[in-house]
Amino acid sequence: MKTDIQLPIYMDYQATTPLDPRVLDEMMPFLTTKFGNPHSSSHKFGWESADAVERARGHVAALIGAGPKEVIITSGATESNNMAIKGLARFYRKHRSHLVTVATEHKCVLESVAAMEREGMAVTCLPVNPNGLIDLDELREAITGETLLVSVMAVNNEIGVIQPLADIGAICRERRVFFHTDAAQAVGKIPLDVEAMNIDLMSISGHKLYGPKGIGALYTRTKSRLKFDPILSGGGQEGGLRSGTLSPALCVGLGTACKVAAGEMDAERERLKRQFDRFTGGVLAGVPGAVLNGDSERRIPGNISVGFPGVDGALLLAQLRELAVSSGAACASAVAGPSYVLQALGVEERLAQATIRFGIGRFTTDAEIEHAIGTVVRKVAQLRKAA
Ligand SMILES: *Cc1c(COP(=O)(O)O)cnc(C)c1O
Repeated sequence: MKTDIQLPIYMDYQATTPLDPRVLDEMMPFLTTKFGNPHSSSHKFGWESADAVERARGHVAALIGAGPKEVIITSGATESNNMAIKGLARFYRKHRSHLVTVATEHKCVLESVAAMEREGMAVTCLPVNPNGLIDLDELREAITGETLLVSVMAVNNEIGVIQPLADIGAICRERRVFFHTDAAQAVGKIPLDVEAMNIDLMSISGHKLYGPKGIGALYTRTKSRLKFDPILSGGGQEGGLRSGTLSPALCVGLGTACKVAAGEMDAERERLKRQFDRFTGGVLAGVPGAVLNGDSERRIPGNISVGFPGVDGALLLAQLRELAVSSGAACASAVAGPSYVLQALGVEERLAQATIRFGIGRFTTDAEIEHAIGTVVRKVAQLRKAA
């Protein structure tokens, strides 16, 4: 049978997304003829780069309901998370010495918090319910008069659940603590509004929303008058908070990715929801006992984490070579052992090992979905028969 699909099928949209061709088009001039340093203020080369950077900053801000001056450009969400947590903790630790976060956060949040713990901060790491969501009462109880910052991710990178951001923001506002959210998996996927959600700091990653790798941003609320100890010292770019020459090409890439997402997010979400329904319907019906991890309602459609009881996880992954999938987060793939996120949900170790994350996104076709369902159903049945 003739098929129009290319193998392997890319299904790892949480690890990274392909660059949208429209984003590359906008970036190209800044990789070629328009090479000026955006911080050169005495000539046209510098001005045209600076203008492009500021337009890009405006697109990032617009997507999350922020003002352009509230957006600091960074190298990605890892740096933004480090800056938010370490920068804030180091500035304020004489006055407030407690941080609150969640067991299922990305490693760069957990490791930044652990670093501050080594520097003397107290830390509360909240558990999650079996559906992956935090308990708001547990959050309320965790906040004390010493609490400086609550850091809760918007969308989980392994299971796709959406934390109740507006509720968390309201609690933080009422208790007068800063609220940071790692929104790397959420920006451009779900509507985000830093005002309505009372978010003080938000981390953004370019390559998770069809932009280039190596660029991201940290939103910092001007009205909250946040102060940081900068991590990078130098020429004082980005208001002294993040020194170093900006890459106009990468900035334009991030800005264009945000502009495209703003225009297409609703339609894309509807299309992905249809593909999510088809894929989960097909796989759960075709593989008896298969389980979808994470809350069934409060989730993005593009992240589909499925546990397959009765098969060996490593064998299954090896059998699924036609699909570019992963057994968990890319950043944790080098580390042996089951995912700490699934363990936090209470998923039993063997099943956690036999869990695959299927990521679908902007360029996933219906034909790819059908092929993927067929492959998964067939391979799991073969492995179970052989076992
Ligand atoms: C990818 C990711 C990061 C890291 O982002 P980079 O831009 O690659 O540094 C942080 N948090 C989450 C939730 C992610 O998915």
